[in-house]
Amino acid sequence: MADTIYCYHCRTYHPKEEMRQIETKSGKRWRCIKSIEATKRGREAREAFGRQTTDINKAEAQSKARLVLNVDR
Ligand SMILES: [Zn+2]
Repeated sequence: MADTIYCYHCRTYHPKEEMRQIETKSGKRWRCIKSIEATKRGREAREAFGRQTTDINKAEAQSKARLVLNVDR
């Protein structure tokens, strides 16, 4: 394996074709596309989950509000 680069994210070596050089606070570092994509997907998934949770909370709050109204009646 000649053309491998150390991936700071996975702490292992990947083929050069799978690597991207990125800027970090501590300088230029190599990271594999897979981990970059996984992070991106992870963020999207978290955001989607966050939206979902907000909707559930809203629905719960609404059903609680309805319950309160029913009790009052
Ligand atoms: Zn990697």
